[in-house]
Amino acid sequence: METKEPRKELQVSAIENGTVIDHIAAKSLFQVLKLLHLENYENQILFGTNLDSKKYGKKGIIKVAGKYFKMEEINKIALVAPTATFIVIKDYHVHEKTKVEIPDEIYQIVKCFNPNCITNHERIPTRFHVIDKKDLKLQCRYCEKITEREDMVFI
Ligand SMILES: [Zn+2]
Repeated sequence: METKEPRKELQVSAIENGTVIDHIAAKSLFQVLKLLHLENYENQILFGTNLDSKKYGKKGIIKVAGKYFKMEEINKIALVAPTATFIVIKDYHVHEKTKVEIPDEIYQIVKCFNPNCITNHERIPTRFHVIDKKDLKLQCRYCEKITEREDMVFI
């Protein structure tokens, strides 16, 4: 019997049903876990980081058993992991793949950069219009100030 090459994806074990989030930049892995609120999730979660990726250098991967994500949850990840792919697994097989896309509107997940903004003083959820998807510039719906990528603080 010949020895088979170990399959790369088995660096982190397979799941029967659930979601695999692949091609996350290694530095963003824990941010993605946080944005998806996976710290409170009770089913099995497997993750790996600093895995070799031909396309992206070092990548992270997350496998969440028994969970599928809504489009809005998938897209909010685009802010921290623009290269991520969501893969729906059913019965150990790839059922569907979705690439993240930066949405036109961002709700709640980012703080407004302007210290005087009402969202930083009252219990009002932040809301932004994305005015530049490439360089990531978010315009606040309340104070109209622009929060840029380097100033982004996640709630
Ligand atoms: Zn604001």
